[in-house]
Amino acid sequence: MFTIFHLYRNRPIPERTLKLIWQHIEYFANTTGGKWLQDINWRGMEYRFADLMQDSGVGGAQTVVKANTIYLCDMEYDAPERHRQTWELFQLYPTIIHELRHVWQMRKWGWRYIICCLPILRNYTIEKDAYRIQDAAEKFFLELDGVRCAAQFRERNQAKEDNHD
Ligand SMILES: [Zn+2]
Repeated sequence: MFTIFHLYRNRPIPERTLKLIWQHIEYFANTTGGKWLQDINWRGMEYRFADLMQDSGVGGAQTVVKANTIYLCDMEYDAPERHRQTWELFQLYPTIIHELRHVWQMRKWGWRYIICCLPILRNYTIEKDAYRIQDAAEKFFLELDGVRCAAQFRERNQAKEDNHD
């Protein structure tokens, strides 16, 4: 079970990873499904890795105490580069979008957000909404990956043809 103690030891996200995170939030914010991101200051949020979360089975979390910090689980910190990229695209970024949706809910719904946070009720309210958005983000990043692969494929083929000339 996830508890606040899982957030106890946390560290800043490496510069390179953070840059990619921002880039991908921005991509999603420019889509129809991600327009709401423009209503919150997601660049002003603090993103941190909490390593103890690895034991909790939870990928992202926030607390009322530090409302502008998003804690994330770095599942693949020792994974090879290629694996890590896949994990970032399909797990890390959609999880961040999920957590940012809670930031948006809190801002938009005010005191109603607190009521919606109650156990059980939250599954039908804030979590339902956040997972819907997370799914949309996953789909978006999947398509983005497809476009990138196609572009790389074309580039490689072009390079091969050029070599034959
Ligand atoms: Zn959630």
